[in-house]
Amino acid sequence: MIVLKFGGTSVGTAESLANVKKIVENLEDEAVVVVSALGGLTDRLIATARMAADGNEEYRSEWDAMVKRHHDIIEAVVGDAARRAMTLEAVNPILDELRRLYDGVNLIADLPAKTLAQIVSTGERMSSVIVAAMLGGASHVNSLEVVKTEKWFDKNIAATEVTTRLLREALSAPGLTFPVVMGGFISSDVSTGEITNLGRGGSDYTAALVAAAMDADVLQIWTDVDGFLTSDPRIVKNARVIERMSFVESMDLCTFGAKVIYPPTIYPVFHKNIPIRILNTLHPEAPGTFISDSQGKGANGVAGLSVLRNEALVTLRGRMASNPADLSTRSFNALARKGLSVHLVAGTAGINAFSFALAAADIPSAVRLLKEEFAPELVDGQIEVIEVIENLATLAAVGDNIKKMPTIPGLILNILANEGIEVLAYSDKASETSLSYVIAEKDATPALKLLHRALFEMQ
Ligand code: ADP
Ligand code: ASP
Ligand code: MG
Repeated sequence: MIVLKFGGTSVGTAESLANVKKIVENLEDEAVVVVSALGGLTDRLIATARMAADGNEEYRSEWDAMVKRHHDIIEAVVGDAARRAMTLEAVNPILDELRRLYDGVNLIADLPAKTLAQIVSTGERMSSVIVAAMLGGASHVNSLEVVKTEKWFDKNIAATEVTTRLLREALSAPGLTFPVVMGGFISSDVSTGEITNLGRGGSDYTAALVAAAMDADVLQIWTDVDGFLTSDPRIVKNARVIERMSFVESMDLCTFGAKVIYPPTIYPVFHKNIPIRILNTLHPEAPGTFISDSQGKGANGVAGLSVLRNEALVTLRGRMASNPADLSTRSFNALARKGLSVHLVAGTAGINAFSFALAAADIPSAVRLLKEEFAPELVDGQIEVIEVIENLATLAAVGDNIKKMPTIPGLILNILANEGIEVLAYSDKASETSLSYVIAEKDATPALKLLHRALFEMQ
């Protein structure tokens, strides 16, 4: 079995959907096709919900446009008249539900989180029905019934055991015809049944959960670029396709901001050793990127560069900071208990400062948790101050062999210093496979371009 995931741009227009049809029809294996909402729709669904809640009556014409877009797509891609009528019968009630939800939030002038989740779910609910109809002879499995989440602090995370069981039951049901089409991203709470989702970009994760549950041969992620590139192509024009990379490299690059795969996606397939292929729906003959358990090569040991924006740096200063091991264990445990994670750690024995980077959005909770954890030390002066600097970015160079290239850390620091880019903290220890640097947000784009040129464009 193979699992294919088509992102928003792959299902955004009649033309790209025609490519999806060709790709799926050419398959010989049993396939599960996971689709995102029509390109850009999730953003529009959210923006329109906010409009409605804010009393902006234009939400009505936005809804009209969504109706037209879905009707036009159905008209264009579902050839058979009877099947087209059935598709409209399935999609129209979802559009009506969406309208009632918008009218509801407009009436109460509020947008509760669970209502927003129901609103955004309509995107994948509709696109999956449309793609199943387009493929003719395909079955549709309702992701809301088989992909389950549970609460983890204020987040919804996949309830993997029950999801695996439900996916296996649904996808091995007698009489099920392949290909099977499912909506990505959408899910429901394991205990309340309320509609939830796996987070923005989460269709990749749905596909990985399916691939792992079914022991698929490969997970194909079809998107709008030729593969996993050495850097974000929207920033670095000369970014090039990485032909082969390891699971760990892809995991590091995605955790540090490469948007091409939603980070939690990699773990379930890595665990089952199911390779991932990144492919371009608009250019299906391109070889793409093959991600597996074999070690990546990379130029100079570096597979790629990525950047996380909206970061902040927390520094604990004081005598106690000269013992970074103890400080890090206590800090990270305190943060992890509330579901906060840290992106980079910089601390050197003997220096009275210990720093780590994390998402700026997590700063208010992080500072509160650290003040609680270190209350005694803040009183007796072992920790003098907890400092926060915002408007930062964390830049990462990733490669399986990066630690075997002793000149790389110095080279990167030199390149940045020569351009006057200040590195506020860096870490060559946190992971075996990445080097990371905290710089000002405004320096992120020039730094990425400079490093890319030096590491990938100069040979
Ligand atoms: P989809 O809708 O198919 O899920 P996304 O927009 O989520 O597509 O992800 C694909 C996009 O990720 C590309 O269009 C590209 O602009 C961006 N991207 C960022 N970093 C990288 C990278 N290192 N390699 C490839 N694409 C990247
Ligand atoms: N449609 C969702 C989003 O835009 C999920 C996805 O595309 O992966 O975030
Ligand atoms: Mg995506």
